Amino acid sequence: MPNFVQTQQYESSSESDDTMDQQNVQEKIKIKRNFDWIRDKCFSNDTDAQIAIKREEQWSRYFTNKVQDGVKVHYRCNKVKFRGTQCNAAIYLFYPHNSDEVILFRANNEHNHTDSSKHYFFSEEMKQNIQELFDMRLKPKKIYEVLEEKNFKITRNQVNNYLTQLRKQKFGPSSLSLGELESWCQEKHTVPQSDDESFVVSFHIHYEDDSDDDDEDVVDDGNKFRFFLSSKRLLQIASISTKLHADATYKLNWQGFPVLVVGTSDCDRKFHPFGLAVYTDEKEPEFEFIFKSISDGVNRITGSAFTPEVLIADGSGAIRNAFQKFFNRDKMVMCWSHMRRNVEKKLKSLKIDSKKTKEILDDIETLQLCESETVFRNVSSLFLKQWNKTEKEFTEYFENEWLTVLDSWYEGYNGAFTPSTNNQLEATNKVIKDEHTFRERHTLSRFLTVASDIVNKWSMSRNQNQTDPVVFSTEPTIPLAKWTNAYHFAKSSKSVLQLQSKRKGFIDYYIPTGDVANITKNEIQRYQRKQWTSSAQFKDLQFGIWKVTLPNIGSEWKNGFCNCPNFLKEYICKHVIGMAIGLKHCKPPSIAKDVPLGEKRKRGRPRKATQALLID
Ligand SMILES: [Zn+2]
Ligand SMILES: [Zn+2]
Repeated sequence: MPNFVQTQQYESSSESDDTMDQQNVQEKIKIKRNFDWIRDKCFSNDTDAQIAIKREEQWSRYFTNKVQDGVKVHYRCNKVKFRGTQCNAAIYLFYPHNSDEVILFRANNEHNHTDSSKHYFFSEEMKQNIQELFDMRLKPKKIYEVLEEKNFKITRNQVNNYLTQLRKQKFGPSSLSLGELESWCQEKHTVPQSDDESFVVSFHIHYEDDSDDDDEDVVDDGNKFRFFLSSKRLLQIASISTKLHADATYKLNWQGFPVLVVGTSDCDRKFHPFGLAVYTDEKEPEFEFIFKSISDGVNRITGSAFTPEVLIADGSGAIRNAFQKFFNRDKMVMCWSHMRRNVEKKLKSLKIDSKKTKEILDDIETLQLCESETVFRNVSSLFLKQWNKTEKEFTEYFENEWLTVLDSWYEGYNGAFTPSTNNQLEATNKVIKDEHTFRERHTLSRFLTVASDIVNKWSMSRNQNQTDPVVFSTEPTIPLAKWTNAYHFAKSSKSVLQLQSKRKGFIDYYIPTGDVANITKNEIQRYQRKQWTSSAQFKDLQFGIWKVTLPNIGSEWKNGFCNCPNFLKEYICKHVIGMAIGLKHCKPPSIAKDVPLGEKRKRGRPRKATQALLID
């Protein structure tokens, strides 16, 4: 088995454990209990040994001791507290240097622990409070803080225990066996021969008693795990992708744990998953773990680096920070659908009447279509100025929430060819939910099978040697309807003004929109100034002319862009195609010419772009 991003080792699973072990070695010397060790059992590998220990349901890893001929990992009886006198019963696993075997030794002592679980008075009121907070999906730490604020006498452990009960009630008695999960991860950690077979790219399992019970950051029952499932083919797709979609809002749940689909989108805005991540916490380290898993996996499978240029996410600070930290990038799109839903909720909660709500949303939709940051800044200040007069509370919210840190929900953010939503990712989650193969209360083994199958299916459907595969498009696919529209646009009698583009090697073409056939030099100058006094004026001017920018090299016309909404949303529009047809960079399929348009055809010969007088 290749040693592939192995994060879990039997000696120490994290740095904190390392220091823990040292500490304990010292304590051990202090305690110096006398043990009579008896060789109990020999296992052929660590997994079997772990399972056997887990089955006894009373041992927690205690400390590691390196001896001359191997390593001893000691376990303590967990019926007593970690801090305090230990029970006389104990075991250790011996890992000899010279073989794969693992030998279990058992102290020749009876348990002498006293049952320390005291009976606390747990009022119905307290239970109800915890239940409510649990239903609000608050984290245990937060729940504890809220209860403390309400002056309930309760300990963190009591909260945790009750939450465990609640979770069991809610998600069934099949409590998660970490040992089972760990051995599965280990088994599936080998990179398979097949391109489509799913495997665990990386995993991390953290047992409750690996760390201090009194740790402020102990989560839930203290058990933590993370793993990332993928396939060779999906990682190959990751290696050629530049966009990363991750979203904490649109996720699945299993036994209350987040199941995250991460992936990319192509030039047809089609979503391609990289794999499934399952984890216990939803903090920065979890997302960093996922990003690192993808990177390591891509590197392992293809030898190249995974270097996403832009993240598309919800407002989750944890995802954003992890992206920034791990990839050292700061281009992060705020999902526009998510933002819009939040704004709608806010408008509702402020009880703004429906007519005004519609007007505000229309204005925000216009704002969303801004082609660049400069335009967005100008227009958003117009928006604030206009609505500040009557809807001060809303504009304050809007400015704080959507025009500061999370202001990247407009189309022109990061230039052309950048998605503005996670809708396709959401759709992928929806498909999983609708297929009903994935159940929130599956047992661990069933869940793992289903998760593997999902990844496997994603991968197989992208095998290009089969009928009707899912293709990763590296340029926009043009549907017939768009060709037809473009063809008719090219044949229309609109005059197009051509100017040198600010972009090197490109030419700008200015096209009047709608029924207007001509534009003047003055109109273009005004258009280029990008100054407006109101949202309404912005709409009139900005959407009265489209600017198509095409490369000088005709054959590369698909790298061209347009500032019309259709292009911003779909990476290709009839203007770009129509200009390319007119300039003879491409030919529409003949069938596109046969389809009549709904509108009346204008007479006259197809016009080529007229060379415009150069405007400075
Ligand atoms: Zn005991
Ligand atoms: Zn266009």
